[in-house]
Amino acid sequence: MGTAKATVQHATDYRGILRNYVGGEWIASTASQTQQVINPATREALADVPLGTAEDVDVAVSKAQEAFWSWRQTPPQQRVQCLYRLKTLMTERLDDLARTVTREHGKTFEDARGSVIRAIENVEVACGIPSLMMGYGLEDGAARGIDEDLVRQPLGVFAAICPFNFPAMVPFWFLPYAVATGNTFIVKPSEQVPITQQEIFKLIEQCGFPPGVVNLVNGARDVVNAILDHPGIKGVSFVGSTPVARYVYRRAAENGKRVQAQGGAKNVLVVMPDAVLDKSVANIMGSAFGASGQRCLAGSLAVTVADRAGRAAAAIADGARALKVGDGLDPAVDVGPVISEQAQERILGAIQRGLDEGARLVVDGRGAAENRKGFFVGPTVFDQVQPGMQIAQEEIFGPVLGVISVDTLDDALQIIEHLPYGNAASIFTQDGKAAREFRYRAPVGNVGINVGVAAPMAYFPFGGWKASFFGTLHGQGRDAIDFFTERKIVITRWF
Ligand code: NAD
Repeated sequence: MGTAKATVQHATDYRGILRNYVGGEWIASTASQTQQVINPATREALADVPLGTAEDVDVAVSKAQEAFWSWRQTPPQQRVQCLYRLKTLMTERLDDLARTVTREHGKTFEDARGSVIRAIENVEVACGIPSLMMGYGLEDGAARGIDEDLVRQPLGVFAAICPFNFPAMVPFWFLPYAVATGNTFIVKPSEQVPITQQEIFKLIEQCGFPPGVVNLVNGARDVVNAILDHPGIKGVSFVGSTPVARYVYRRAAENGKRVQAQGGAKNVLVVMPDAVLDKSVANIMGSAFGASGQRCLAGSLAVTVADRAGRAAAAIADGARALKVGDGLDPAVDVGPVISEQAQERILGAIQRGLDEGARLVVDGRGAAENRKGFFVGPTVFDQVQPGMQIAQEEIFGPVLGVISVDTLDDALQIIEHLPYGNAASIFTQDGKAAREFRYRAPVGNVGINVGVAAPMAYFPFGGWKASFFGTLHGQGRDAIDFFTERKIVITRWF
């Protein structure tokens, strides 16, 4: 494979501007502005993405509406044949897709590969829709001779608004379920990483979906607002930062749409005195520094309990020092770049704030930023962090881990309780009673017990509490079936 720019072919115009996939065709956006997509490891320009318009959304919605009625009447067993083909094609192209993810996002190839596999797993689960979508009924359920049944029906056009950190996976928390249940769909990828979806839609094109069932619209804020306001869109799935999630939730709901909005995080990793230290530290490294800390499930605070000799804190710092920073396509690299120069500056600013607040910088990743080839920040560890410090409260979304030392598990749980976010928390321990108390009390949607990244498999909903989630029904699993269908009760009497 050559550069990503060379791979997009008909999905771009002659100037390398990405096209939208609407109504089964690659069409140019009506946008007058574009933004460069940059490989964050090399600063190479990969493509130009149009900053789409309300008109682009309108065209996509009308194509999706036109496709809906016939798609809805296609038996579920036939609908999923398109998804079986998509699974096969994505699996065949797994390594190419992973390389595209690494090139536009920066995460290591293995990590990128894992995220594409997670996307494919959602397709696999959605292939079970004929069973998953079944309702239930009861003869004589209403009275003698009067039967009562519940059936599920699709609603129409749905849209997903996606973040930069999982270019392949996040749209697939929604897309397979939406179309398997008989809806039609629009994906709005992050303008920072639009190429992976472009590549996936080139596969979607070959799967037999009727024109208009699955659509891709590139853009940023204007496209988001048009999605939130368009009367033809029945529901919106959003994943991104908390301020935007809150905004999307409010505006989409005001417009009468179904909405699920996943937001930011500040995830705590609790290390108990009896933790198996080497294995726990390996997990903590993966959690805090994998994808350069740009995961909504990344651990960003390690809370060490009764670590009086500082053994756990020292092992965490040693682990961070051993990680190699560089281009994610280099197999020796553990930590790739961060997404952009702006993100790099924001993260370096957070490190400075930690110093100003009086935390002790024990592993300083700022040196990696001197590599001007890309946007690098090395693994960074603070200890002597206090729970009230800004670096202990805000989502940094970079490779920065704060270590807080406390006396008891109760102290650790109180730190989690007082955080605004509730995405994930993990405990490292050999003590079942401590683990049980932790899972019982931690106010988060995803709990890890000796697991650093508690990422739910596709058949479970992706949890998220407090300011990490706005809505009721989450992505993936059975929640997805509920989100993308309306229930109808039918009461029948035959005279
Ligand atoms: P972001 O909020 O900046 O952008 C997300 C999407 O919203 C993008 O498609 C973008 O075009 C759009 N957008 C951005 N600003 C907007 C605005 N003012 N008005 C309308 N639309 C706007 O998020 P990001 O930086 O791309 O992604 C990182 C964030 O996503 C982190 O906070 C991370 O925790 C979160 N995230 C959460 C989960 C989860 O499951 N909870 C998963 C992945 C990422």
